Parts: sequence; C-alpha cells; structure tokens
Amino acid sequence: MGAGFLVVVAIIAFVYFAARGRAERLREQMQDLLRRANERSAANRLPSESMIKCPTCGTYSAPGQQRACDRADCPYR
Ligand SMILES: [Zn+2]
Repeated sequence: MGAGFLVVVAIIAFVYFAARGRAERLREQMQDLLRRANERSAANRLPSESMIKCPTCGTYSAPGQQRACDRADCPYR
C-alpha cells in the first residue's frame, strides 16, 4: 500500500472510464446509423396504409404517384 497502489488505481479508473466513454460514443453512432437507415428505408418504401384511393375509380396509388385511369372523371388525369 502506498503511492504506487494509488497510481495503479488511478490508471485502472482512467482506463475504465475511457473505455466506457468510447463504448458510449460507439453506441450513439450505431443508433444514429440505425436511425438514418430506418429513415431511408421508410422513404423508399411505399406504405400501403398511406395509399390514396381514387374517389372515382377506386384505384389505390401511392401519394404523388397517382395515375389516371380510363374514367373520364378521374381526378388524376
Ligand atoms: Zn381514377
């Protein structure tokens, strides 16, 4: 017991907290990556729950991708 012991304890504490800080940063980066990947896939996906039904012909289409049908009164032509 003495100064040498204290130095060893200080080094262990430093290494412990440095490793924990790095793990925390890595975890945050992973979560950020996952979140961005989810946002990208959500933007690419065409969710069926947000499909818009044509009030005239009843055809479902993704928002912004409405196609005109054969009906003369289709609102999407
Ligand atoms: Zn239509």
